[in-house]
Amino acid sequence: MQVATGISILNGIAIGKIRIFKAPEYKISEELVDDPIPELNRFEKARLKVQEQQHVLYEKAVASAGEDSAAIFEFHADMLDDDDLLDAVKSIIVDQKHTAEYAARQGFGNMAQMFKEMDDPYFQARSADVIDVGNAVVECLLGIDTTSLQGTEPSILVAEDLAPSQTVKLDKSLLLGIITREGSSNSHTAILARSMNLPALIQCKGIEDNWDGKLAILDGYNSCVYVEPTPDLLASLTAKQQEDRRAEALLQELKGKKNTTIDGKTIKVYANIGGPSDVGAVQANDAEGVGLFRSEFVYLNSREDPTEEEQFQAYKRVLETLAPKQVIIRTCDIGADKTIDYMHLDKEANPALGFRAVRICLSRKDFFKRQLRALLRASAYGNLGIMFPMIISLREVRECKEILAECRRELANEGVKVSDSIQVGIMVETPAAALCADELAQEVDFFSLGTNDLTQYTLAIDRQNARLEPFLDTHHPAVLREIQMTIEAGHRHGCWVGICGELGADPTLTETFLRMGVDELSVNAKSVLPLRKKIRSIDLSKPASADTQSTAPKA
Ligand code: PEP
Ligand code: MG
Repeated sequence: MQVATGISILNGIAIGKIRIFKAPEYKISEELVDDPIPELNRFEKARLKVQEQQHVLYEKAVASAGEDSAAIFEFHADMLDDDDLLDAVKSIIVDQKHTAEYAARQGFGNMAQMFKEMDDPYFQARSADVIDVGNAVVECLLGIDTTSLQGTEPSILVAEDLAPSQTVKLDKSLLLGIITREGSSNSHTAILARSMNLPALIQCKGIEDNWDGKLAILDGYNSCVYVEPTPDLLASLTAKQQEDRRAEALLQELKGKKNTTIDGKTIKVYANIGGPSDVGAVQANDAEGVGLFRSEFVYLNSREDPTEEEQFQAYKRVLETLAPKQVIIRTCDIGADKTIDYMHLDKEANPALGFRAVRICLSRKDFFKRQLRALLRASAYGNLGIMFPMIISLREVRECKEILAECRRELANEGVKVSDSIQVGIMVETPAAALCADELAQEVDFFSLGTNDLTQYTLAIDRQNARLEPFLDTHHPAVLREIQMTIEAGHRHGCWVGICGELGADPTLTETFLRMGVDELSVNAKSVLPLRKKIRSIDLSKPASADTQSTAPKA
């Protein structure tokens, strides 16, 4: 077995034979022509033909990948009307007496180079689009047809790089996955692969030409490809692939549908994420928003305290990609099991009851302000909610809000744009917060119940301690009562109430939560659609089903 690694564009498994895709090789004559007029006419004919092809590719891409992804072909078609570009090509024909294909390659090549030298990665990635259109014009002029390069058997396509037009021209029924040696995750090929739901690896190192025809597994979860895998690996990844397909079937059935019960009650089903790399899963599973972005992972993934700018970039990416969906970012919840060397936190006898989360933030104001400023700056790019963790008192909420207001004033003075519709909420994950929910609700827009910690603190059961498992009742009436109290208190004061702890994804509690009046459930991305299915099967106008849990003490 051989293994090669790359950058994964989509989590998924593809199993099949490798097909090495080689772009056609052709030589362009450098000989000069006597009369440029026929060359100008040839170029014009090819330009119009390729423009027409781009319109066809647009329609094809809309059908297979959606309008957003297809927009690149409109950009391609427009490029063929760009006066600067056309003048440059025509001048190579007229002034230098070159052939149409030579002039097209030079003219498009120069423009691609110009994009490549720009600072912005977005424009750098557009250089591949210019080359793509230039190649299409040259191939049209030379009469080369690239559609037959895929073979006849479904395969994992391996290429040096793939242009968007090559990718969309591929016959999807023969395509299991894509691997390229080059490519960027920002390229339209990557975007298309993602929206066509194809496992894909880019910048894959170690590809060998003799892999052609060999059995391989493209493992998007682990960013690698196994060539001639062992029987055990083949069996386990085939099982994983089947699991993905079952989830996919569910997705197709439920995508775009509402989270509405039979009797018409609709709630929001959001996803929990740890950072920008999880955004794809939010989209793939059709979550309506993000109910918990555990921002501490931005800190945990960094070797040093992340700067305001680094944090801003991470939050902006998530907000911008998911806009107009709401994204609730929880401020740093470091401490207890989540420790970071550069924070120099003292060892404590009871870390879960110790110096953590908002307690650190309120004690290290500069540290807190760096995050709040980054969040406020990012708010201009989407629909942001800010949530404070581990709250136990009104004083803490007010202090957090005051520091947030201070950051807002600073940014206003600096002329930085900040959204004026940011919702502010707290996690209700301590018994103190649940018991004081009436007062706390008057300070915030929403509550999100952190049932993982709420259970730990209510039952005095360390969530890290596996030995306590026999004593743990995850449906303990005390926790359910706190949830009910919190929902009722929130509603009394116009606050919406969600659940972002693991209990939110427990299907045996969905009916209970709906009957309590919960407004939102935020769960891991993979649970979004199973939960949607569950919600759509519930009828609250009928007597409570056997699933409904009581908040009365158990025997
Ligand atoms: C919780 O406590 O339920 C929660 C969602 O937060 P975390 O699991 O990150 O502590
Ligand atoms: Mg918690």
